[in-house]
Amino acid sequence: MENTYHLDPVLLSDLKSGRETYWANDKLKPFSPLESQEMIEAEQLLSRFASYLKEVFPETRKTNGIIESSVQNLPNMQISLQDYYGTTIPGKLMLKCDNELPIAGSIKARGGIYEVLKIAESLAMKHNMIRKTDDYSVMADKKFIDFFSQFSIAVGSTGNLALSIGTMGAALGFKVTVHMSREAKQWKKDLLRKKGVLVVEHEKDFSYAVEEGRKQCTSNPNCFFIDDENSKDLFMGYAVSALRLQKQFEKEGIKVDQEHPLIVYLPCGVGGGPGGVTYGLKHVFGEHVHCYLAEPVNSPCMLLGLSTGRHENISVGDIGLSNQTETDGLAVGRPSALAGKMVGEFLNGVYTVSDENLFKMLALLHDSENITLEPSALAGMYGPALPQVQNHLESMPESSGRLNQAIHLVWATGGNLVPSFIMKEYITRGENLL
Ligand SMILES: *Cc1c(COP(=O)(O)O)cnc(C)c1O
Repeated sequence: MENTYHLDPVLLSDLKSGRETYWANDKLKPFSPLESQEMIEAEQLLSRFASYLKEVFPETRKTNGIIESSVQNLPNMQISLQDYYGTTIPGKLMLKCDNELPIAGSIKARGGIYEVLKIAESLAMKHNMIRKTDDYSVMADKKFIDFFSQFSIAVGSTGNLALSIGTMGAALGFKVTVHMSREAKQWKKDLLRKKGVLVVEHEKDFSYAVEEGRKQCTSNPNCFFIDDENSKDLFMGYAVSALRLQKQFEKEGIKVDQEHPLIVYLPCGVGGGPGGVTYGLKHVFGEHVHCYLAEPVNSPCMLLGLSTGRHENISVGDIGLSNQTETDGLAVGRPSALAGKMVGEFLNGVYTVSDENLFKMLALLHDSENITLEPSALAGMYGPALPQVQNHLESMPESSGRLNQAIHLVWATGGNLVPSFIMKEYITRGENLL
């Protein structure tokens, strides 16, 4: 009985054969207001650290020490997508540019940095070195660096979480060890080593790398393990993005209401990032926001966890998939225990996309808008072009008949730190496929 699961046979056959597919969430519940205290506390903690971040990471000065990205219209990409995939996208296509987030160049700058800062604050407070009303820029002083150097942080990652935790942790003074899974890109490891982070390379997948990180910390009370499969702090750090987006939309006069649905497309690995963002968005926009997750055809772990209801107790290997993909950020075989349970009833659905289409869209976006993203970050871009998604939205009373007033917000999750010679290879590869 342990390994039994029930899935629609057509869906299962699509998944097993690596065909792109779509799962409409049959467990979607009517929206009811969410408890949000932790998310608000996360936002407040990040504000307390703004003066510190401004001091230590000059690239955050223009946003006053707040780690945030812009939203942008994609009129040319909307046309390119329609032309290439032969569909019509009613409404307006926009990009949430987390590729440009300072410090880590990816969505991991939200959750990862929040969790590291939270650890630092609680240690400093416990040792009476700081009060919440102080100016936190003092944490850049040698006294604090010496203090934090008695503690270590460990994390397992396919690359980007390590970049975020490693960069932030090392800057504060922590001894950081990152356990990298087999798909982690060389340039990410090189960059971390330059920052004084200990990089341990594993020839196995993400779940294994996480286990190794966990093991390292179990017997050491001065070691903090950042658990990408289960961390509420990471999750809430991602959720803060929704509070910020609400302000950005207000400022730009962008409406989200009964007549103007917001449809959001999020690349999904273990699920914490897109899950946290979904949680925050539901809190802010309620029934007017519709969230979709996107996964590579060989790593549809969240689709599998949600559709079978087995969450972390099923992996893509259980249905014979390899979990091999070029999209290192999404190469995860087993979903987060936390994320699926937190947002399983809020998500509209999950779709899968081939690596080939990700590279094609990478090139289309570069050619049409001159924006460059890492391959993982294009997964969201496929959703607005998918007829199954549009049909599903048309069938729902909250969005039916109003898609031409909708905003399709594609969440770009990474890209700014990719070395330019690698980005050129990605673009060429995509262009050759078009
Ligand atoms: C980590 C990551 C994601 C997905 O976040 P999860 O929390 O793993 O689901 C998406 N895109 C990029 C570029 C990432 O690094």
